[in-house]
Amino acid sequence: MENSKNLKTVLVTGGSRGIGAAISLELGTKEHNIIVNYNHSKEHADNIVNKIKSNGGNAMAVQANIAHADECQRLFETINNEFGNVSVLINNAGITRDKSFRKMNLTEWNEVINTNLTSAYNTVQIALPNMIENKYGRIINISSVIAQSGGFGQTNYAAAKAGLIGFSKSLALETAKYGVTVNSICPGFIETEMVAAMPREVLDNIISKIPVNRLGASSEIAKGVRYLIESAYITGQCLNINGGLYM
Ligand code: NAP
Repeated sequence: MENSKNLKTVLVTGGSRGIGAAISLELGTKEHNIIVNYNHSKEHADNIVNKIKSNGGNAMAVQANIAHADECQRLFETINNEFGNVSVLINNAGITRDKSFRKMNLTEWNEVINTNLTSAYNTVQIALPNMIENKYGRIINISSVIAQSGGFGQTNYAAAKAGLIGFSKSLALETAKYGVTVNSICPGFIETEMVAAMPREVLDNIISKIPVNRLGASSEIAKGVRYLIESAYITGQCLNINGGLYM
């Protein structure tokens, strides 16, 4: 096996379940070291790491709540000791706390903003200096169609996800000359536990409005991530993978 310090090191936040797990598996090949970050789901994270290793890849699970800057610091120190600098950063971890705005309290607002948006500040602050020094980096932020269309009961989530798109474009301007690309992906409704938590009648109503007439698969988002990693001339863009739900 190639020395793990010579491989591209990829951090997938929230890589233990759903879309993040699919991204970890898509990239978990001989060319990458994959860090499967998780907050609570150690078993799921270990499972993904084992699958990657059994396919001949290098991977490690690391617990850290990415909403907290100090935990991100510890996460990157652990990665650095094992694999060296992160050259591909996938900010995927996210949560919902849906409630109509009039009923939403500040805790529910802050939880979603901190986990879905401030987390990108936390991880990019640490990862970017080395990417710039190495003249190579890929930052991909998983936003949402809700950033573009809005979502009933999702003012906190839509604000965070729209924030990620603006953040990506602005950072792309600052980093392009250093070989660092920054893009976002806006998934539509993808079959994961996050979507399974929605009431069935709401889901059926959503599916009836999706031109391809089905939910998306996590693997379809993961392929978009791979495409953006392999593309040096795409930066500041938002890749919509939504079955035509929003055009
Ligand atoms: P999911 O199945 O609920 O998985 C969320 C992942 O994020 C889990 O691995 C979870 O780890 C991790 N996570 C949550 N909070 C964290 C924290 N504070 N620190 C570290 N990890 C944390 O969600 P998903 O559907 O795969 O969504 C993944 C991303 O895609 C999210 O950003 C979501 O907003 C976005 N998205 C999803 C859809 C969709 O239809 N599913 C659509 C558009 C956008 P633990 O289990 O360990 O907590």
